[in-house]
Amino acid sequence: MTVSAAEHFERVVVTGGAGFVGSHLCERLVCEGTDVLCLDNLATGAPENIAHLSTCNNFRFQYHDVLEPIQIRSAVDVVFHLASPASPSDYLRLPVQTLQAGSLGTYNALQLALHTDARLVFTSTSEVYGNPQIHPQPEWYWGHVNPIGPRSVYDEAKRFGEAMVCAFSEQEGVNSGIVRVFNTYGPRMRVYDGRAVPTFIRQALTGKPLSVTGNGAQTRSLCYVDDLVDGLLAMAESRHSGPVNLGNPEEQTVLQIAEQVIALSGSNSEIVFVDRPVDDPDLRCPDISTAQQVLGWSPRVRSDRGIRSTIDWYAQDARIVGSGWVR
Ligand code: NAD
Repeated sequence: MTVSAAEHFERVVVTGGAGFVGSHLCERLVCEGTDVLCLDNLATGAPENIAHLSTCNNFRFQYHDVLEPIQIRSAVDVVFHLASPASPSDYLRLPVQTLQAGSLGTYNALQLALHTDARLVFTSTSEVYGNPQIHPQPEWYWGHVNPIGPRSVYDEAKRFGEAMVCAFSEQEGVNSGIVRVFNTYGPRMRVYDGRAVPTFIRQALTGKPLSVTGNGAQTRSLCYVDDLVDGLLAMAESRHSGPVNLGNPEEQTVLQIAEQVIALSGSNSEIVFVDRPVDDPDLRCPDISTAQQVLGWSPRVRSDRGIRSTIDWYAQDARIVGSGWVR
């Protein structure tokens, strides 16, 4: 399904709008005629992600760290709160900032929603399930998280953020919805952000071996970014409080994903096996029955089509050829 934002929203705020997911969300909203204010401190995002929107008169970028209060006087329909480091390499590099983005950043986004009478959509993560003991993961599962492991800065920040959203809803009556986003990929992911798809594509397109962690038997379920944007808009449009899983239940092993990237890119690269990160989840697959029932949402893009279009996007950039790749 494609949700038409213009019919529902006049003005939205997107925190983290200069990042991978946020820039696609801003683009969709701008194209549909919504006034978009993008707030970002560019910690892990990039001005290039939103450069093409800068000439649109219904788009405005404001450099802002969500650890500071967000003061906006005019009416806002929806606050999409995405601001947070998201890739393992980013949150391991920025552990305290990640915890702050999930806690104080979420508090400030909720204060904005409270004072502008907006609905808040909080992008939580499948990482709240940790290394799950139930598979696929339904929303009622409380998770299996190591609270002091290296990944905990992200997992616990999002778990705290969910609790904060619930508390504001209960105590202040803020209209809010929590979505738990599963692995999402697509154009504009930084090739060095450490996540599997951009890493494999960079390696395949530059003829380097694809580095599969462990024996590659751990699974991931990859959602194309356009599908996720549909889901975020559907959540904004609904009054459902969530949490709602948003992801693609097409589950693959990491080794299969690497093999698919090699096949779709026509690369001659080999596969090598490297150490697995600490607390890396064994299984990851969303149960999306809630999203299907309450949002009428299901992902539509199969991984072969999504990965091919992502490869095409990276391949268009001449910088990926040779060692000069800088994106
Ligand atoms: P990203 O790193 O590309 O984007 C995050 C954006 O937030 C960046 O532009 C960054 O500069 C900004 N940001 C970080 N800290 C900030 C702060 N203190 N103040 C203002 N801006 C700040 O990551 P993404 O993949 O686009 O993720 C977007 C959101 O979706 C995140 O909240 C992430 O946790 C969630 N999510 C993403 C995935 C995924 O697979 N992409 C999966 C689960 C959850």
